[in-house]
Amino acid sequence: MLRRMDFRWWRRSFAGAFVSWVFFFLRFSCSDKAPDFTFVKEATSAPPVISYDYIIIGGGTAGCPLAATLSHGGATVLLLERGGSPYTNPNITNIDNFASVLLDRSPTSPAQPFTSEDGVYNARARILGGGSAVNAGFYTRASTHYIKEMGWNQKMVEQAYEWVEKVVAFQPPLMEWQTALRDGLLEVGVLPNNGFTYNHLYGTKVGGTIFDKEGHRHTAADLLQYAKPSSITVYLHAIVHKILFRHIPGRARPQAYGVIYKDANGVRHQAYLKNNSKNEIILTAGAIGSPQLLMLSGIGPGYHLPTHGIQVVVDQPLVGQGMADNPMNVLLIPSPLPVEVSLVQVVGITKFDTYIEGASGLSLAYPLARRLAKSFRLILNQSDYEPFKVPPEAMAIAVDTVNAVVNRTLRAGVILEKSQVHSPQVI
Ligand SMILES: Cc1cc2nc3c(=O)[nH]c(=O)nc-3n(C[C@H](O)[C@H](O)[C@H](O)COP(=O)(O)OP(=O)(O)OC[C@H]3O[C@@H](n4cnc5c(N)ncnc54)[C@H](O)[C@@H]3O)c2cc1C
Repeated sequence: MLRRMDFRWWRRSFAGAFVSWVFFFLRFSCSDKAPDFTFVKEATSAPPVISYDYIIIGGGTAGCPLAATLSHGGATVLLLERGGSPYTNPNITNIDNFASVLLDRSPTSPAQPFTSEDGVYNARARILGGGSAVNAGFYTRASTHYIKEMGWNQKMVEQAYEWVEKVVAFQPPLMEWQTALRDGLLEVGVLPNNGFTYNHLYGTKVGGTIFDKEGHRHTAADLLQYAKPSSITVYLHAIVHKILFRHIPGRARPQAYGVIYKDANGVRHQAYLKNNSKNEIILTAGAIGSPQLLMLSGIGPGYHLPTHGIQVVVDQPLVGQGMADNPMNVLLIPSPLPVEVSLVQVVGITKFDTYIEGASGLSLAYPLARRLAKSFRLILNQSDYEPFKVPPEAMAIAVDTVNAVVNRTLRAGVILEKSQVHSPQVI
């Protein structure tokens, strides 16, 4: 919570934003009604200046349930997300297209590619639903040890899980590749066999998935169906450029009171907190996005910010240090026969806190098709005649046609090894 500027508390709460605010919601009744997304709009329709009780930056895995929760407390909530809607993109909603999204390097891709300073290729989400819209969809509960370490109430955490699981978690269908992985893990001694469970247990288990039986992805954006429509506004393609801070006489630390964001046309808007001491600006822009925005706003290493022309508001040398989101080692296991498409379902949780997971049969068709379609367009534009204008409908048909021909499903499985990465302790 930036308004109070208590960084020790805030660091911890960033890690737990998802669950802790879900607790708050539990005081209100859960709803089974169909999703109502009338409150999700393009930022181009936003007034130049607006005021809300809560301003949440980043409509990702944490931001969406948090916004839904807060909308029930009698407060008004503004959620600003730099990406678009996941519901209009079949690459996101369909399990077969998992790899396509991650390989899409276009400027509007829902997965923004980047390479870390130490050379590790990765992607960060740029879409409502955040990482849950582009990731491998594995769902699990946290360990009881982690919950204790965070100081959360175990019973409330369990209630919160039910709230989430009702909408986004499913038991996966175990087929050949995942079955072989499970048996292999048991054979090498990752024991016991815990069967299917959402709980975090040492040994081998089948966990949850956010893909339903039809292979459709359910993202954190689905949790917005719990929101109270009259109390919440979600703006898409709203890139927050700066959090505004002011110094209050008698207080050691500055307070956040508003944000500056730009819409898809590059038009600048301002959003302010309403005048109430309990109102807050909450930063849920991800492991990279949150520290980046803090630094752009003047909170960060005092020696570093001025080199980018940024005036220091608070000298906080740890901002941006030690952050990680899903780093892993990958082993590719080629197969002479086609293997089914599966994302992470089976996991081996070792006593030395590494996780062994697997996926298989990833389809690479879409990016290849797009590349071919792009070449097709370039060739047409190089003719001596008037530049050939391809209507979007025709391009879509061309892409689908090429897609059907170039069906390059990976004849392989992958085994992933991830270390125990504690949620961001320092941003
Ligand atoms: C390839 C991959 C596979 C993964 N697989 C799994 C898995 O199977 N299971 C699992 O549990 N986890 C997985 N993860 C990790 C998981 O997805 C993330 O840890 C989680 O989504 C992080 O949640 P978050 O809310 O902190 O950030 P995010 O979900 O990334 O949300 C941050 C949001 O903030 C927005 N944003 C950022 N900057 C701004 C700005 N300036 N203005 C406005 N909006 C902004 C972004 O667009 C984004 O939507 C995977 C991650 C990756 C990259």
